[in-house]
Amino acid sequence: MPYIPPAEPCTDAPCEVPSAAETPTAPPAAISKGNQGVVAPEPQEDAGAPPMDATAKPLPGDGVVWMTWPEQQTVSSTTWGPILTDIVRHLPASYGTQYYDSDRITYGHETTHGIHAHLRNNFTPTGKKANAFYVLKNRAAIVIEPNITKAQVAAFVPTSLRESRYATYVTGQTAWNDTPLYLWDEWVAYTNGTEVGVDLAKAGMWNTGWRDGAMGAMELTIYALAVGMAVEKLDATYFAQYTQFREFLAWSSKRAMAAYREGAKQKDFAWDKQDAYYASIRSSADAKDLRQFVRRVYGGAWGQEVLGLDVSTE
Ligand SMILES: [Zn+2]
Repeated sequence: MPYIPPAEPCTDAPCEVPSAAETPTAPPAAISKGNQGVVAPEPQEDAGAPPMDATAKPLPGDGVVWMTWPEQQTVSSTTWGPILTDIVRHLPASYGTQYYDSDRITYGHETTHGIHAHLRNNFTPTGKKANAFYVLKNRAAIVIEPNITKAQVAAFVPTSLRESRYATYVTGQTAWNDTPLYLWDEWVAYTNGTEVGVDLAKAGMWNTGWRDGAMGAMELTIYALAVGMAVEKLDATYFAQYTQFREFLAWSSKRAMAAYREGAKQKDFAWDKQDAYYASIRSSADAKDLRQFVRRVYGGAWGQEVLGLDVSTE
């Protein structure tokens, strides 16, 4: 234990991006003017957000502006479980089976990329370079790209937290250098994939043995937070003014780390290597800047809840 993890998804070429010529077959979801002068989707009542309570203090992540992205097809399989079924059904049928993989975590991961590509090619604001993320239950978020390069993110990843996916996605995939939120695309794809695995394992339906099925959600959370650190420093106005970026980073970090912790407890995804990485987030001296970023932007209580950080300052 452990055996060599299977090859990473998307290691040898940028993930498929359907051309803009592939027109959507589904009606567009509701899009309207948001604040801050950017076109953003309106929050939807049925988007899975918690009910608003005027007396409750908003928590980091509560302010994400969601776009409702409904099911696009009604396919199903007895081997999928609810999470993979959700993901596959939200890919327009016109894409066929190009994202299929016999490994169900990879199938969820790759299909998530397909949904993201479809959404960013069809629903992002005119004149703005943006990315799109599908996070299950009909919820998608559009986020305008910050004005940094992906390569600039590398310096913000603590050396002790550079694991195998660092070379693959942070310093690799240079074709996406002008698209820093490519790292969030991978992050959400890994998180969705981990949720697929956790869901199947809980139901007793994960029957293909041990797999590196949880670590990616955590590792990419660190790289996603490093994107936040880079943007705070290098595109400060965007960072200060664009709520959607900060809120989605919070919301998605919380989901990814919850999925990670659940997966890490399951025998099919448990791994001493990821336990050590999780401990390093909290204790590595060179991760201090990352921890301080988290506390400064989202508060000590959030850092404790989401990343297990000590609330006290260092
Ligand atoms: Zn990927």
